[in-house]
Amino acid sequence: MSQNALVEQVDAILPQTQCTQCGYNGCLPYAQAIVEDAAPINRCPPGGDSGIEALAKLLNRAVVHLDTTCGHPEPLQVAQIDEEHCIGCTICIQACPTDAIAGASKLMHTVLPDACTGCKLCVAPCPVDCISMVPANREWTNEDASKARKNTRRREARLKRKHPEDQPLASRTLSNKAPLTTAANSDAQTRQKTIADALARARARRSGTLK
Ligand code: SF4
Ligand code: SF4
Ligand code: SF4
Repeated sequence: MSQNALVEQVDAILPQTQCTQCGYNGCLPYAQAIVEDAAPINRCPPGGDSGIEALAKLLNRAVVHLDTTCGHPEPLQVAQIDEEHCIGCTICIQACPTDAIAGASKLMHTVLPDACTGCKLCVAPCPVDCISMVPANREWTNEDASKARKNTRRREARLKRKHPEDQPLASRTLSNKAPLTTAANSDAQTRQKTIADALARARARRSGTLK
């Protein structure tokens, strides 16, 4: 079997939440590291013990305990936006690996629950803390994983088309995130101003001085 085919088989076992808890920039980069760099198979908390067992069987490796420094398995959650306080800055859209957030600049945003993997990557970047995680009250299924894989790959293809100069976007480890963040923040001043303007408008709207 070719290395690429094996990567696809490993990726097919991974849950596709794209949460980055494994220390890689998503499930496919972790699958590549497992196959190409012999990375440990126990770094995926959402996959839990059953995921480790499946990987061990496929790769003929020993079953090991989950590396809990990466995190612990948790019940599925989905993100929820407090739309009343959303200032429409679009930062959460940029953070979401599966295109699970709909909205446009200066308009309130909303989460598409069927596309949300519960990865929490949108929570910290929100400048007004209006995103919270709530119980999904259901299990993560293979169908969810397939849909998340498709959404992630479609998003990455779109980003590569849009930013061909940013090939590091395709890079595999989180160690590459610092230069990416710097690149993304190159117009930080403009963004700060947009956010400040939006916050001022939100405050004015709430105090009734702006309709
Ligand atoms: S689900 Fe999260 S921890 Fe597991 S492989 Fe995918 S990105 Fe890594
Ligand atoms: S909406 Fe938030 S929690 Fe849900 S997939 Fe997107 S970034 Fe992850
Ligand atoms: S990051 Fe927060 S304020 Fe900005 S669009 Fe998303 S939910 Fe709204």
